[in-house]
Amino acid sequence: MHTRSDCRICHSTNIEKYLDFGEMPLAGGFLTKEQLKEEQLFPLNVYYCKNCTASEVLDIVPREILFKQYFYMSSATKTLSEHFERFAKEIKEKYLKNKKGLVLEIGSNDGILLKPLMDLGVNALGVDPALNVVRIAEEKGCRVVKEFFTPEVAEKISKKEGQAEIITASNVFAHVDDMDELMKAIKIMLAEEGTFVIEVHYVLDLVKKMQYDTIYHEHFSYYTVKSLQRLFERYGMEIFKVERIPIHAGSIRVFSRNKRKGNKAIERQVKALLEEEKKAGLHSFNAYVEFAEKVKKQKNQLNSILSKLKKEGKKIVGYGAAGRGNTLLNYCKIGRETLDYVVDASPLRQNKFIPGMHIPIVAPEKMRESPPDYALLLAWSYFNEVMKKEQEFLKKGGKFVIPLPRPRIIGVKDLQA
Ligand SMILES: [Zn+2]
Repeated sequence: MHTRSDCRICHSTNIEKYLDFGEMPLAGGFLTKEQLKEEQLFPLNVYYCKNCTASEVLDIVPREILFKQYFYMSSATKTLSEHFERFAKEIKEKYLKNKKGLVLEIGSNDGILLKPLMDLGVNALGVDPALNVVRIAEEKGCRVVKEFFTPEVAEKISKKEGQAEIITASNVFAHVDDMDELMKAIKIMLAEEGTFVIEVHYVLDLVKKMQYDTIYHEHFSYYTVKSLQRLFERYGMEIFKVERIPIHAGSIRVFSRNKRKGNKAIERQVKALLEEEKKAGLHSFNAYVEFAEKVKKQKNQLNSILSKLKKEGKKIVGYGAAGRGNTLLNYCKIGRETLDYVVDASPLRQNKFIPGMHIPIVAPEKMRESPPDYALLLAWSYFNEVMKKEQEFLKKGGKFVIPLPRPRIIGVKDLQA
């Protein structure tokens, strides 16, 4: 492991820490029974760059440990699948000028965007190093280059396939330590008049909606639009459009292109969002210090709700095993004394254990067979989807503990109200 002493976006050393989670396990590192004994913990701190306004985790776990077996299977949630089906249509109808133009997706995961693009007849290619999810994409018939997207790999692909008219990277920008390597590869791969589209979790939502559970080792960077602007400027590029999207409880879709004479005007929301960030204080350190204080308060509130329920002898389980939930459980130190087990629909996670807290993960059927009194909704950003799916549990008197953005208890009556 190494610790950076500079900002990975702008290389300034004018950085300051505002969040300290202590020693934490890897959020994506679901464990087999054999791995429980040899689990490694790593420090988790968040810094603010006073030059470009990005927030960053600077203790870097080598990416070979982090991403080789990436358990996040995009298509496992309906919300995400639908999101990318819509995005595929937009790419084809709104942004792809040349029908045969190449669309390259960096971090193509299990083919969640590639497959609908392919179904629409788009010439789509993915790049992803995580072999277990690439296999799933290939089974769907997607074309994927099984590598980290480096300048060398970009050279290789562009020689063979030509440059890309559109490059997309969803949920990728947060996961890359060496942003210069990535941007150099983008510059090689992107056609002169091409469009580069990223989707990334948005700091404005993180701070406003108290989403500290998105902070983990695998997420290196938390961007403001301002910090992204700085990054693209360094590579002769400009942001020309930004959309706020509900994915992961608050993200932005950012469109960028090479700076060229004759480019169309930059759309108005870019400036509007920059102003909103500034108004929310996100271009100065103070807002982040206040956020960190609120995080501590939230943790105490959630713990007191859970310990009260346990004192009353209630049976509680966790709902949804994902990276975000793992941060929450480990930061709040919620373990087997509180949760009997965690249910999750993904077969890749079942029969494994929550990193750090070592709570067993089981199939959702177990919760149906013997319903608990309460389920802690770790996948709280899928609130609506889960409430619909768990009507039976709720009708029989089961309740959900919602940890964020404000700890509270939800029963069937609250949903009718
Ligand atoms: Zn910076």
